[in-house]
Order: sequence, then structure tokens, then C-alpha cells
Amino acid sequence: MADCLFCAIVAGDVPAQRVAETARTLGFRDINPQAPTHVLVIPKDHYPDLAALAAADGLLDEVAALAHKVAEDAGVSEAGYRVVFNTGPQAGQTVFHAHAHVLGGRPLGWPPG
Ligand code: 5GP
Ligand code: ZN
Repeated sequence: MADCLFCAIVAGDVPAQRVAETARTLGFRDINPQAPTHVLVIPKDHYPDLAALAAADGLLDEVAALAHKVAEDAGVSEAGYRVVFNTGPQAGQTVFHAHAHVLGGRPLGWPPG
């Protein structure tokens, strides 16, 4: 999709530190990490938010599976990690290409801010 930052990362037009990939999904480091491990896992095709991603056949499963693989590869899966989809402006979604934040490597407070 034109003018979408994460579509540009998928295309290689914007550089990113890629850490994991499947045919339909991509994981790359967040540019402003909020934890020692902070990776964004996205579908390579453009879906604006979680609802649109959930309506795509099996794709949300693949995003979740890659999020878990990222946590395992980072060595944070046993201690525990968090997967977050900020959805909509009030939840802090700023990039409207659906993405899962994978956060780990430090204690994560609850409730979140
Ligand atoms: P949101 O606020 O939509 O849930 O998450 C968007 C995330 O994208 C933020 O955590 C932000 O730091 C990250 N981000 C914004 N621009 C870039 C970029 O150019 N490269 C990377 N790797 N991450 C970005
Ligand atoms: Zn996009």
C-alpha cells in the first residue's frame, strides 16, 4: 500500500533489522525499543488493524506463531514475554499496518499504562 511505512519495510525500501520471516510474515526490531527484546511481527500484505488481519485466512495464526518463535530465539520465552496489538488511536496505534509487539527481557508491569 502506498505511503505505508511497514509496507515499505517489507519491500526493502525502508531499512529494518529483520530477525525472523516466513512467506507471509516478517519480524523486525522496533526502532524505539521499550524492552530488551522488542520486535514487531507483521503480515507482509497490508491489513490496517487486528480486525482485518483476523479476517484473513490463517494469517493471524502465522503472526502469533512467529511472535512465539521470536521470543524463543531471543531467549525470553521461559521467563515470559508479552504480545500486544495496539488497536485504534486510544490504545496508541500509530502505524495502521497491523503489527504485534513482542516484548520481553524485563519484568512487565500489569495493568499496562
Ligand atoms: P504502534 O504505536 O502503532 O502500536 O506501534 C508502532 C511501532 O512502530 C512503534 O513502537 C514505533 O517505535 C515503531 N516504528 C515507527 N517507525 C519505525 C521505523 O521506521 N522502523 C521500525 N523498525 N520501527 C518503527
Ligand atoms: Zn502496509
